Amino acid sequence: MVSRVIPVDPFDLVIFGGTGDLARRKILPGLFRRFCAGQMPKGARVIGAARGDMDSAAYRDFVADAIAEFGGERSCEEGTLAGFLERMEFVTIDARGDKGWDELAKLVRSDVVRAYYFSVGPSLFADLAHRLNAHGLTDADSRIVVEKPFGRDLPSAQALNKDLAMHFDESQIYRIDHYLGKETVQNLMAVRFGNMLFEPLWNSQYVDHIQITVAETVGVGGRGEYYDKSGAMRDMVQNHLMQLLCLIAMEPPSKFDPDAVRDEKLKVIRALDEVQPHHIVRGQYEASDDEPGYREAVGDPRSRTESYIAMKVGISNWRWAGTPFYLRTGKMLKARSSEITVVFKELNHSIFGEQSDHRNVLSIRLQPNEGITLGVTIKEPGPGGMRLVDVPLDMSFADALGEDGADQTDAYERLIMDVIRGNQTLFMRGDEVEAAWAWTDPIINGWEGRGEVPKTYDAGSEGPVDAVQLLARDTRVWRKVAP
Ligand code: NAD
Repeated sequence: MVSRVIPVDPFDLVIFGGTGDLARRKILPGLFRRFCAGQMPKGARVIGAARGDMDSAAYRDFVADAIAEFGGERSCEEGTLAGFLERMEFVTIDARGDKGWDELAKLVRSDVVRAYYFSVGPSLFADLAHRLNAHGLTDADSRIVVEKPFGRDLPSAQALNKDLAMHFDESQIYRIDHYLGKETVQNLMAVRFGNMLFEPLWNSQYVDHIQITVAETVGVGGRGEYYDKSGAMRDMVQNHLMQLLCLIAMEPPSKFDPDAVRDEKLKVIRALDEVQPHHIVRGQYEASDDEPGYREAVGDPRSRTESYIAMKVGISNWRWAGTPFYLRTGKMLKARSSEITVVFKELNHSIFGEQSDHRNVLSIRLQPNEGITLGVTIKEPGPGGMRLVDVPLDMSFADALGEDGADQTDAYERLIMDVIRGNQTLFMRGDEVEAAWAWTDPIINGWEGRGEVPKTYDAGSEGPVDAVQLLARDTRVWRKVAP
């Protein structure tokens, strides 16, 4: 199968925070891979803008190091790196002062697509938006890319939206949730809306329940101070898990168009039930042989922030009333695994007369080993009567699609190219983000108000025992967290 590379127009991409961790690990290596794929036309340039004295030559060395460390295995032809580095410029800039803005204004061209990636802390977003405008660096076709976290509650998200709206129209603002850039997440929409098979069954009449799991094996590492102010609910549920929930639960949009898709996602968030406190389990990991426990890692022996959360969520609409959605995410768990599982109901009558516990289970793996598996019931081979057995109809993308399946574009590079193309489908709209905070705020305020202390769980386990109970009460079980 031949990979199709859709060309983009020439552009100037300015990365504010171009020397930061995210730029080094994700943005710059991702851009290089797009360059290797032939997707950076002549005249496309990348301009790093950050604090600190550096000239363009030093920045090119910085970029080369980042690619060597984080560029992955995909190799480019000899000499390609030099060609990519030629596209790099650097400007020392102060987001809060005057330094560097005139120089940037001289560098950025007005006859190409202009995109500004705000890869800096959110406290600088308003300053950047204001200065871009004040220095005449934008027009109606310019775009800004905004990183997470987008606020830490509804008022702060509203304030951010308001600040950005002073200088940019909503159609120019690209709020990144890199989960939406993952291949399988988009495949979720292709599977649902590109097949006759699933959509008629995609409702509470046929679906028993849905599980969404995002499990990490790493702890908070060096991000302890940031993470402790946030926790799993703000860091993962309000954005990534919520987006997955929206895509799995939304009504079919009338077309695959940014606002049609985002309108449907917004309706899901607005239809979410208030979550009962006893439907939430929060946890903190204990020390393992190699790593300190959560409280030690964040340097606060009394921290009440959760590194794990599991919850039962209901959606009050015609499609989903009565079908629970179980969400869980956490750090220092047994395996790194992100998966959405749709568990269908049992047959209402089995002609085989078994105490049939056979159900179809559709699981969509986001990482690792992206793919889709459908569990189907068949006859166990051999003579001696009709015994049933569940087997997986397994479609690993790497196997099914050959090179194209294995060689998957990273979420960041896909999303950056969408920005250049002006396609907002895989970015969060301002009202979506606000609706998500409006749903999570009362939950967070509730447990903060009650002074709730998270349960503990062993590092390398599947999470707190109480999370098992959450499903056991409904006579259900979590899928095993497996790589
Ligand atoms: P970082 O601290 O590593 O880098 C910050 C960058 O901003 C540096 O280039 C620095 O020079 C620049 N900067 C800081 N103050 C400035 C100022 N006043 N004027 C101009 N430049 C200034 O941060 P990071 O980890 O790269 O994160 C950047 C953004 O991306 C943050 O909003 C973060 O929440 C988000 N994010 C990061 C990751 C990640 O893996 N690092 C993941 C998701 C989201």
